Amino acid sequence: MENVNYNPKSLNADEFISHQEICDSLEYAEKNKNNEQLLQQILDKARLEKGLSHREASVLLACEIPEINEQIFELAKKIKLNYYRKRMLLFLPLYLSNYCVNGCVYCPYHLKNKHIARKKMTQDEIRREVIALQDMGHKRLALELGEDPINNPIEYVLESIKTIYDIKHKNGAIRRVNVNIAATTVENYHKLKEAGIGTYILFQETYNKQSYEMLHPSGPKHNYSWHTEAMDRAMEGGIDDVGIGVLFGLSTYKYEFAGLLMHAEHLEAVHGVGPHTISVPRLRPADDINTDDFKDCINDDIFAKIVACIRISVPYTGMIISTRESQKTRERVLELGISQLSGGSKTSVGGYAEPEKEEANSAQFDVIDTRTLDEVIQWLLKRGYIPSFCTACYRAGRTGDRFMELCKAKQIHNCCHPNALLTLEEYLTDYASPKTLEIGRQVIEKELSTLRPDVRETANKWLTAIRNNKGRDFRF
Ligand code: SF4
Ligand code: SF4
Repeated sequence: MENVNYNPKSLNADEFISHQEICDSLEYAEKNKNNEQLLQQILDKARLEKGLSHREASVLLACEIPEINEQIFELAKKIKLNYYRKRMLLFLPLYLSNYCVNGCVYCPYHLKNKHIARKKMTQDEIRREVIALQDMGHKRLALELGEDPINNPIEYVLESIKTIYDIKHKNGAIRRVNVNIAATTVENYHKLKEAGIGTYILFQETYNKQSYEMLHPSGPKHNYSWHTEAMDRAMEGGIDDVGIGVLFGLSTYKYEFAGLLMHAEHLEAVHGVGPHTISVPRLRPADDINTDDFKDCINDDIFAKIVACIRISVPYTGMIISTRESQKTRERVLELGISQLSGGSKTSVGGYAEPEKEEANSAQFDVIDTRTLDEVIQWLLKRGYIPSFCTACYRAGRTGDRFMELCKAKQIHNCCHPNALLTLEEYLTDYASPKTLEIGRQVIEKELSTLRPDVRETANKWLTAIRNNKGRDFRF
């Protein structure tokens, strides 16, 4: 029977993330998880590389037939290569303040936690931190803040963005500042747009309304609709690149998976452009947070399957993985669909310029992959990936639907590939260890030969300019 409450074009959270539609989809998936004929039909559609609906994708996620699961993984790898080749974008989170008035039970920044060190960086401290991470080689940041109208008002966020963009230090530059702040008003989103942010990121945490309300017992975030409808307000405020995600472990993964894809379908239906990125964090232990208290945590195999099924369902959407995951897990999912990763991260407020003292721990969660950025770059290069610090689209105004059109037509390669090589060369010339420099230059030489002759000629000219310190920030 048709579910009359479900409407992807509605602006009401209960209608575009209809609980009934998710339950019906999960029931359909459960019934068909061993239906070989249907599974093959869905896979055939997925092979067209135009994506799948949440219901079709839920059937693949539920599938228990080993041979078909193998095909799902193989297809995810193929789509990943076709859309992103071997490029891997690097970014870094920067926590500005951990003051927060919310009561999220899975996060140590919740208001009632009295033993975590509370910190908020001054503009001078931000400058010091950003110089430290420019000296690592980073070009893209994701700003993280708790929700607190007194300590972290929008003016503080805007001032901090300006401080970061204004820093001129050696050859370094932060060229794209993505922002992860609490759900806010259209007016504030408009201000963020004016301040020149890249992507606005907001994780749903969980799409299960009942769980959501229990896990967010107090503070403004308790309001499920306000939070779930935030991306629509962001787009109304002019932000056209939004990043969504759930925190796997808060509710059952099949429910979250369907909700996540329904959110993507909703954004596409209403705004004509789906999410720019999807993040796949899993719940991690932290100060006063014990993951044993959460019965829906997922293991590595399910995690890999989720990544593969998201890749197949929304081929044109970037996928992000953080240092919450180990090197081994990251290695496994990179080939299945991840296109962006962090490297050398700290999850404390500050801590890049000077490591935090143990008694002043302000970290949001424990980092598992603790390697330096140079170690991560070298590891990627050795595994055949091309680390990229590219921010060209944002700087050329290729955002929102302009960006998606290029992605869906797979034309973005003509820009991404040479830009990856140019930004990698910036890293190698300015920041790399001798070994990374050696491997990186070999990779660049090899990849240059894959470019169109006219593009290769220009790329070569710009690469020489970077090596001779005659300029930076060249882009196609
Ligand atoms: S998840 Fe965000 S809103 Fe919730 S307590 Fe942590 S910082 Fe605050
Ligand atoms: S060219 Fe655009 S899509 Fe490609 S990596 Fe650069 S910013 Fe991203």
